Amino acid sequence: MTKKQKFGMSTVLAGMLLTGLVFRPVQAKTQKYTNTDFAMNTVVSETLYTKGKDLNPSIGKLLKKTEDEILSWTEEDSQIAQVNHAGGETVEVSAELADYLKKTQQLAEDSQGAFDPTLGRVIRLWDIGGENAGIPQTGELESLLEETGYEKLELDGNKVTLKDGATLDLGAAGKGIGCDLVMDFLGQNKDVSGMILNLGGSSVMAYGEKPDQSDWRVAIRDPREPEGDYLGAVTLKGGEFLSTSGDYERYFMEDGKRYHHILDPETGYPVWNGLTSVTVVCGSGLFADGLSTACFVLGKEKALPLLEKYGADAAFVDEDHKVYLTEGMKERFELMKNTYETDILK
Ligand code: AMP
Ligand code: MG
Repeated sequence: MTKKQKFGMSTVLAGMLLTGLVFRPVQAKTQKYTNTDFAMNTVVSETLYTKGKDLNPSIGKLLKKTEDEILSWTEEDSQIAQVNHAGGETVEVSAELADYLKKTQQLAEDSQGAFDPTLGRVIRLWDIGGENAGIPQTGELESLLEETGYEKLELDGNKVTLKDGATLDLGAAGKGIGCDLVMDFLGQNKDVSGMILNLGGSSVMAYGEKPDQSDWRVAIRDPREPEGDYLGAVTLKGGEFLSTSGDYERYFMEDGKRYHHILDPETGYPVWNGLTSVTVVCGSGLFADGLSTACFVLGKEKALPLLEKYGADAAFVDEDHKVYLTEGMKERFELMKNTYETDILK
């Protein structure tokens, strides 16, 4: 190599180094974006970690759209409302709704009807949490019960038929469906490293991880104390969902009795089995939500095989201030109040 060639080479090398220094793209830093919104009839709390833009507004829109166009029973144009108003005729629904209905029907079967997506008219009759809440006439309730039962829901691909006057209400799984949709949405965005989404304190999704890799933790409410008073906390890994069903969420009191919104599909009355809340963790939002309702109806003993089938962990809280934990839940549950006691469910 001549001197001139050597000089040329080092100039090129220096040039490459320099351009590398000058034009190396600046690594975006992970930012935290928090937001509070209202969707699916509840308060939505969002904490997002991303190197990209704030996606919380898009997430709010996604939840509202799903409620308005698919799940709502009040929005006349929603797909659920259309099926309910079809008078028993077959209706073709979107692939999304067909998928949700298939899963809810599966859960109804697996829980022997404890989770029942066809309670629509019974739920409206009670109107618990609504303006016309009250104890129905016995005869009225009995005749409406004739028109319920998950076997009255017929699915054939995207075609849905409701027999014998049954009506759909996916209130027990809707927030979980919302959590599933957000998980899918985040999966399409490479900039996002983590998120915790909380719908009304009862349905939670954990995605990815926090920048410091510490655990996602979800506080569990004391069912007999005001909001903000917690009896424990549950740890979640990214990709997990948590759902709590409680007799404190929507209820009215009459003659010292608590008439709450989780109904026993056999009697049409609120479930009075000593439980005050049930928390479930699993890998699906829809199933976590549906299972927490089903497990509340079934009670802790009967619920165990169902939880096992879905690979889910659960905590059952009762009126005697006992918290019964499945083996898997024991690993992730932390008791925060000494007025409660934990026990293992076997
Ligand atoms: P969740 O808070 O998820 O347990 O859902 C309770 C809501 O689901 C109620 O407000 C009703 O709209 C509906 N629901 C009540 N009882 C049942 C049941 N046994 N199966 C399915 N949905 C129910
Ligand atoms: Mg539920």
